[in-house]
Amino acid sequence: MFWRRKKDDEPQTETDAPDIDLDAPEPDEADFDLEPDTADARTAAETEAAAEADPEHLADLVARVEALPDPAAPASPPPEPEPEAPSHQLEPEGDLDAGLARTRGGFMSRLRGFLGGGPDEASWDDVEETLIGGDVGASLAMAVVERARRRRDPGGAEAAVRAELAALLVAREPDWSPRPSVAGGPAVILVVGVNGTGKTTTIGKMAARYSGEGRSVLLAAADTFRAAAIDQLRIWADRAKVPVVAHAPHADPGAVVYDALDAAVARGADLVIADTAGRLHTKSNLMDELSKIRRIIDKRLPGAEPETIFVLDATTGQNGLAQAKAFHESVGLTGIVLTKLDSTAKGGIVFAIEHDLGVPVRFVGVGEKVGDLLPFDPDAFVAALFA
Ligand code: GDP
Repeated sequence: MFWRRKKDDEPQTETDAPDIDLDAPEPDEADFDLEPDTADARTAAETEAAAEADPEHLADLVARVEALPDPAAPASPPPEPEPEAPSHQLEPEGDLDAGLARTRGGFMSRLRGFLGGGPDEASWDDVEETLIGGDVGASLAMAVVERARRRRDPGGAEAAVRAELAALLVAREPDWSPRPSVAGGPAVILVVGVNGTGKTTTIGKMAARYSGEGRSVLLAAADTFRAAAIDQLRIWADRAKVPVVAHAPHADPGAVVYDALDAAVARGADLVIADTAGRLHTKSNLMDELSKIRRIIDKRLPGAEPETIFVLDATTGQNGLAQAKAFHESVGLTGIVLTKLDSTAKGGIVFAIEHDLGVPVRFVGVGEKVGDLLPFDPDAFVAALFA
């Protein structure tokens, strides 16, 4: 399913999506260096100004929102294929033990080798080096070893290190799931992160999970910077059997999100998951765009508190962590999804992320299949590492 706002007087084209910008003065268009929008639609600033000056226009806008196409009705023209009804069955879930096999055979196996024999001074150094090699990070590895040594754990050095590592993970409510913060509105997840980390795959997996639980999920293709991102999201939407709201490549991502929220409210959807750009020409453009999307969500669903989830590729180690910190400082992350845990022998990055950011890992990706996204349970994770 591919939704776009309907125009009154002419057939829909890929380029006639409305822009929605909330701030005056607007950010300099040149900052975004996007292809000029050939849309005949007026700009958001003009739209808003007109709405304020002309109550009739406001009424017209409201009417247009209310006239959004009913997904159950045939679209015209051309009719879009309906998504199949959600199966309401969970995909078979991946296996954490299998997903951690490389890490267990990699740095954890070395770590346990050093811890097993009742370490003397020299092997504590080895423990520290091994933790660093496992992507725990240098200063954190030093602190863990220092505290583990002082602990004099009756269970021995391994129990001490295990307890200190576990203590780095942030407290969280068990069985977390995204909830609406506005009565009657959908829960909203903004998925952010760098291209190639597994953002689209993760959105597809989350959509399948929540749809499989019986929630009605809608995707927003707000990474309009790359045409391929929209196509990929459609493929995942088909796979997860959920509808997607998309505009043309290079359309205003804020307008996509706005329309997705409209559509979600109109059909009483439970959850909107929005893809966002993983790269613009500069980092500040990217962060500006994310902030703008946040403002648009607040405009359409005042008081909404979207989950802002950063997708971090576990194989990128400390570099990925540096990216996560930059995003956290700019847009305030509420959760992390750590992808490709199955592809790294250095799963220690989990401890570094949670400790350094104070943000919980919500899911871990342990493969490319739709079921390979597991809710992150700190106790199960530590147990699987030391199993
Ligand atoms: P995006 O550019 O961030 O949207 O990244 P994609 O979702 O297109 O994913 C990039 C590649 O990573 C694809 O080949 C995915 O199949 C792969 N990928 C995503 N998540 C995982 C995971 O948890 N494990 C493995 N092994 N591969 C993954």
